[in-house]
Amino acid sequence: MPIAQGTLDNLKSPESEDTPSLPSLLIRDAHIWTENRIIRGSIFIENGRIQRTARKISAPADEEILARGLVALPGLVDAHVHLRDMKLAYKEDFTSGTSAAAAGGFTTVLDMPNTLPPTDSSKRLLEKAKRASRNILVNTGFHAAAVGDPGAVKAMKMAGAFSIKLYLPKPIAPLDVGDDLAIVEVLKAAKEASLPVTVHAEDAAQIEPTAEIRTFKELIGSRLGRAETSAVSRILRLQEQIGCRVHFCHVTLPSSISAIGNWSSGRLSSEVTPHHILLSEDSLDKLGWKAWMVPPLRPRHVRNRLFREMATGNATIIATDHAPHTIKEKRLPPQKSPPGIPGLETAMPLMLTMVNKGKLSLGRLVSLLSTNPAKLFGLSSKGRLREGADGDIILVDMKKKGKIDPDKFFSKAHYSPFEGWKTQGAVHTTIVNGSIVYSNGEITGKPGTGRVLRNGRRR
Ligand SMILES: [Zn+2]
Repeated sequence: MPIAQGTLDNLKSPESEDTPSLPSLLIRDAHIWTENRIIRGSIFIENGRIQRTARKISAPADEEILARGLVALPGLVDAHVHLRDMKLAYKEDFTSGTSAAAAGGFTTVLDMPNTLPPTDSSKRLLEKAKRASRNILVNTGFHAAAVGDPGAVKAMKMAGAFSIKLYLPKPIAPLDVGDDLAIVEVLKAAKEASLPVTVHAEDAAQIEPTAEIRTFKELIGSRLGRAETSAVSRILRLQEQIGCRVHFCHVTLPSSISAIGNWSSGRLSSEVTPHHILLSEDSLDKLGWKAWMVPPLRPRHVRNRLFREMATGNATIIATDHAPHTIKEKRLPPQKSPPGIPGLETAMPLMLTMVNKGKLSLGRLVSLLSTNPAKLFGLSSKGRLREGADGDIILVDMKKKGKIDPDKFFSKAHYSPFEGWKTQGAVHTTIVNGSIVYSNGEITGKPGTGRVLRNGRRR
């Protein structure tokens, strides 16, 4: 199994060349999170990599940050974002989406394939990567759409795809998602290409038609947890026959987490989102379109148990499912309102607040938002703050109080169901490949600072 990543060699922009001319950076006097404990010291980054961490470093550097009072964590990895761009650039583009990532502490994001055009061939994946390479502020990789043709799956793997995304409610590329045999073909092709299958587990057959629906409450009633339960058990049954790797995106039920099991086999993993562990369907009643996403929010008691599954380490990763739309689109009647909310800029302040409240340990948070997603998607030089790792680091102010304010988002989507929530703990500085891309409320990096990541390649 390939377990390293790298840039798409022929697509490097001059700014992202791994050459000795990259400025060095010294982070002085931080509280450094390393191998599950905090030590006080400095970090020296040269040529985009962490060269040294030590109590005191006096080497001259091109740039210095005095990080007294701040906690240095490995850069966060969001395995599930929708950066849109191309014909959907009016909702979000590579620069606005990765600026939001930088502000949220995410130094690496993996983008979903349901774009216009969709990422359903190696040619389209390479075109998307080329466009991204000039415009991204954080490292970005791409998932590819599930297609029936094993040759196309292999070609997308060769082009750098991180997974094959199987969207069960409605296929992204033509595929009979109701037919087990069609799904088996996708699982087989992914296995042959050594790629995981990322699944949106809601069975279309269990989702009631939405024609008569007038309220978001009725909309939720048409999309109950049984659609997830049925899809999870169906995919687990087919996975058992094929033996491929399957990652279950944004699961909403504690029973799904138990069915998937912990990640010990290395073949099955689960993902939860901040909105499903922090909000319940009461928010949809109150906020309507601002809290409308799929899978939808669940009852409060389900949400509480899902939070516990996450905090005790039974879920594998947290991902934001950052899914921006315009407010005009979101305000359409419920059955036409596109599901999805922006999440890149709210995840970390919300989760740090949970750490400050004692509901979650900092170590667990680092595992869920950095170490585990990096490991799951083969990003072997990310997810850990240690010598030799990529210079992807965030500095966090654990004490800083704030309030979620969508007007301040770098994302084009200026709305959030968390609007007005009081937070404690904030991302202060985000460093990508040794360059400071975000600091104290401002984007300081240039588009092109991020690298296009390619699965299976070391940079
Ligand atoms: Zn999504």
